[in-house]
Amino acid sequence: MKTENSIHDILKLEQAIATDFAAFYGCQRVKVMKIAIDMDNTLTDELGATLRPGITDFLETLSLKNQLFLWTNSKKARALEILKHHNLRKYFDTIISREDYDPEGKGIPKDLRRYDFDILIDDDPAEIQYNVKNKKTGILVESYRKSKVMDKDELSKIIKKYKL
Ligand SMILES: [Mg+2]
Repeated sequence: MKTENSIHDILKLEQAIATDFAAFYGCQRVKVMKIAIDMDNTLTDELGATLRPGITDFLETLSLKNQLFLWTNSKKARALEILKHHNLRKYFDTIISREDYDPEGKGIPKDLRRYDFDILIDDDPAEIQYNVKNKKTGILVESYRKSKVMDKDELSKIIKKYKL
């Protein structure tokens, strides 16, 4: 099982490789935004059964210029199953699940500072407020539920507003 420490180690290693790579080719490392994205009611409905309309295109666009992380309070096995079912695993660098940051289910917030992430996209206002309070960027999306009529421009407005 992946522990929180191993996620830290992997992220650090990635940073080091990217910096070495840039140095080797004598170029400046372009700052890539690290974006954490929630799963339930953000990517899919709460059962993981249906996809939020437009979410695949949204992830596709975001992943061109940014590094994406799934950050879910769900257990890892369930998260992986849902991602696989909808063919979304490929968009995410790392999956951070309940076992990684809140194994005892204490309601620990998704603190972007913990992994040096830049942005959180989530349907939970409390998670967003927590990060905004800590000077990070939180983007609140409407809670998606199966068959709910969604604002079809919501995701494209986010890409434009935050230049993602
Ligand atoms: Mg959610």
